[in-house]
Amino acid sequence: MSKYIFITGGVVSSVGKGITVASIGTILKSRQITVSVQKLDPYLNVDPGTMSPYQHGEVFVTQDGAETDLDLGNYERFIDVNLTAESNVTSGQIYSAVIARERRGDFLGGTIQVVPHVTNEIKERFKRLAQKSQAEAVIIEVGGTVGDIEGQPFLEAIRQMRNDVGRDNVLYIHVTLLPYLTSTQELKTKPTQHSVNELRRIGIQPDVIICRSDYPISEGIRDKISQFCDVDKQAVIPLPTVSTIYEVPLLLEEEGLGQLIVDKLSLKSHQTDLSQWQELVRCLKEPREPVNIALVGKYVELKDAYFSVREALYHAALYHNRDINLIWVHSEDLENDGSEALLRSAQGIIVPGGFGLRGVEGMIKAASYARNNEIPYLGLCLGMHVMVIEFARYALDSTKPNSTEFDPSTPYPVIYLLPEQRGVENKGGTMRLGNYPCQLVDGSQAANAYRDSLVYERHRHRFEFNNQFRNLLEEAGMVYSGLSPDGRLVEVCELANHPWMVSCQFHPEFGSRPGRPHPLFRNFIGVSKEILREGAQPPLPLSS
Ligand code: GLN
Repeated sequence: MSKYIFITGGVVSSVGKGITVASIGTILKSRQITVSVQKLDPYLNVDPGTMSPYQHGEVFVTQDGAETDLDLGNYERFIDVNLTAESNVTSGQIYSAVIARERRGDFLGGTIQVVPHVTNEIKERFKRLAQKSQAEAVIIEVGGTVGDIEGQPFLEAIRQMRNDVGRDNVLYIHVTLLPYLTSTQELKTKPTQHSVNELRRIGIQPDVIICRSDYPISEGIRDKISQFCDVDKQAVIPLPTVSTIYEVPLLLEEEGLGQLIVDKLSLKSHQTDLSQWQELVRCLKEPREPVNIALVGKYVELKDAYFSVREALYHAALYHNRDINLIWVHSEDLENDGSEALLRSAQGIIVPGGFGLRGVEGMIKAASYARNNEIPYLGLCLGMHVMVIEFARYALDSTKPNSTEFDPSTPYPVIYLLPEQRGVENKGGTMRLGNYPCQLVDGSQAANAYRDSLVYERHRHRFEFNNQFRNLLEEAGMVYSGLSPDGRLVEVCELANHPWMVSCQFHPEFGSRPGRPHPLFRNFIGVSKEILREGAQPPLPLSS
């Protein structure tokens, strides 16, 4: 039977609970314990697919096509697993399921209530994941902060689990923040005490408290938290802010959290091997020459909107023993005259995914700049649409080519709605989602990157390349280097007369891992690092 580790958050949100959860997965996996992970999101949306990136950050897509919280991306990268739809549960899904059963008549005669009907449905999801994954440890993160109204049914469900599966099979970990007061120069434990009280009020006594803070945590503070919150001193785990998120598993291991979990849950464990992580962190901390990469998008104010893209860039840079100097370019700013200056120092340009008209002309300008100045370009989904539109405008010598997403009446709809998307009215969960095969063309940049001929990649889109324009653009120099196995859908395209201008209809960023960069990102950085731009010149050789 699986053991359950429940993780709650206290005091404030955004303290890195997701990274902490992912890191706990890493340290358990490093002991050869099999792990699965689940994120519980208290909002009423069925999934984050319909939410603005400004509200929610990136939407992470699993191989089986679920649109999920970006924490799942961290879980995948840290634990090196491919998760499925079962790993993200929202209140929206829970209530929809309960209400659908009520309409079907499953509870005939009964009054449907939060306890037990909603909580039973939640617990069902825990057990379903345990069953499906057969993992020895299932780590479940409750989104939000203890005390939130929407989070109550989830907390009640995790409380009940202690009785359902036995107290030796569940562990409660609470992640809090210790704020620092500049006036008295000390870390304060009171908010942690309050949030533990709040947990206790609903019947949960944490076994472990992980304390996030921007400053070192003294023994005295640990003693105090241990005493006031009634937790063993060695179960008060300090987690100061670190320069790279990949260091968190090492810190938690150093503080003895791995052994503590193994002991408390009587898990069968092997010797810990975190050598790969130690090596990764050592490399990340070494000074490396940066590669200037411009990320041109319309949500750049919120860096989380491009979480996986940014991570994939860092993984690729590390492979080449380089760092990334990420230049965030707001695509709307590129629409102004003279704005090309924003791209002046870019050794590579990346246009990631996105939806809607705003900022698209700026992205097209970035693609044009990359093509004309022979700057490496990587287009991801919308970034491919942008590259195709730009190239069609050049090939046809017209400003009219467009995607019907942005100009429904364009005479040259080079990107248009997928046939299976026509007539689809509902917005939620109706895109072309998840893994699809892609056949690569020998000798192309894409095939050279992958060193493979058939690959599977994750999709999330409604629009695609319009085959009516295939020949025309091919004659002008576009290469269709990746196609669906039936040849019908353009999955990857690139330019023949350019050092490296490659775009894909899918999202390779979701498959990148630390230590195993995605091939397209790897080669994109490999070519970019050789490009000389203003501010990126290597030092002159010293004369003897
Ligand atoms: N808006 C485009 C589409 O729906 C691109 C989507 C994306 O970049 N993920 O096809």
